[in-house]
Amino acid sequence: MKRILTAALLFICLFSGCTREAKTDKDIFSSNDTEISHTGNASATREIFAMDTYMSLTAYGDHAETAVDKAISEIKRLDALLSVGDEKSIVYRLNHGEKADSEDVTFLIERSAWLYENTDGAFDITLFPLMELWGFTGEHPAVPEQSDIDKTLVLCGFDKLIIENDTPEPKDGQGIDFGGIAKGYTSQRIMEIFREYGITSGVVSLGGNVQCYGTKPDGSLWRCGITDPDHPDDTSALSGVISVDDKAVITSGGYERYFTENGKTYHHIINPENGYPADSGLKSVTIVSADGTLADGLSTACFVMGKEKSFAFWREHPELFDMVLITNENEILVTEGLKENFSSRKDYTIIK
Ligand code: AMP
Ligand code: MG
Repeated sequence: MKRILTAALLFICLFSGCTREAKTDKDIFSSNDTEISHTGNASATREIFAMDTYMSLTAYGDHAETAVDKAISEIKRLDALLSVGDEKSIVYRLNHGEKADSEDVTFLIERSAWLYENTDGAFDITLFPLMELWGFTGEHPAVPEQSDIDKTLVLCGFDKLIIENDTPEPKDGQGIDFGGIAKGYTSQRIMEIFREYGITSGVVSLGGNVQCYGTKPDGSLWRCGITDPDHPDDTSALSGVISVDDKAVITSGGYERYFTENGKTYHHIINPENGYPADSGLKSVTIVSADGTLADGLSTACFVMGKEKSFAFWREHPELFDMVLITNENEILVTEGLKENFSSRKDYTIIK
């Protein structure tokens, strides 16, 4: 059963007299600065540019400075390890026929295999040759010839990848890319560091992909804004806000990386079935899960799968995640588990 709330009702329920409603990403995170003086906790905040995006980290607790420093080192380590373009990275070396051992790669391969199998192949780390063909790995992306897409598709497919002792061995023209899962894995690792250092509250935003540790210092929920896909640069134009504790909130959207050719827009999330940017009727997918790696992988996979397949998948695994889909028609579809956690000035539909 679907429930449609009107904008007027929403406005009354959610925004009247609600002075702490976050309107922009900045509001969401900056509101915590004032709260620190009430808790007496130490806090630390850092920003860093890594994995091609701006990242910010905030932690509260006696060892907040150390925890955030360790988290920054971990981001740098994983960036250097997983980068497809850095000749020294493990992924680059694997893609160029070298053998290289890494616990992180072993973990990511296991997760990628699960995602591939459970999403009917929608999530596929072996699409790297297509990413290169489309030029998404360089400065000048362009629409390739159909014959080149056909030839490159033959190289792709997780089931064709040789994996020896949990280590992938791409052969002749094959290649792997953890770009669809790396940021979620990184935020998950940072949560482990926060736990190790006794952090009491924390939040990281890795290029808009958020993972929260505990609640805010005052015990209230973290508020994560969902970018309006039609106005991605306008942080005051959110499509909604999700209030959570101990969760990752990770979005995939066609607006995040794209180019335009002959008036048509081509984005960076590839449909493994035809080798073209996925055109499944969605503008964005936001996944909410306690597991950052899963949330990141699923945001990419559900963007490829489209709404019907994604809802069918969610109905099989409602305990693992919830999601907010924004369709090409600007419908906002929210799975039932977020009923109490989602708010928006726009109409939205709860999916059961
Ligand atoms: P995300 O922003 O998490 O959706 O990840 C997008 C990135 O994942 C792209 O830039 C590629 O590196 C990679 N990618 C693109 N299409 C896929 C796909 N179907 N499955 C897995 N990874 C993909
Ligand atoms: Mg992803």
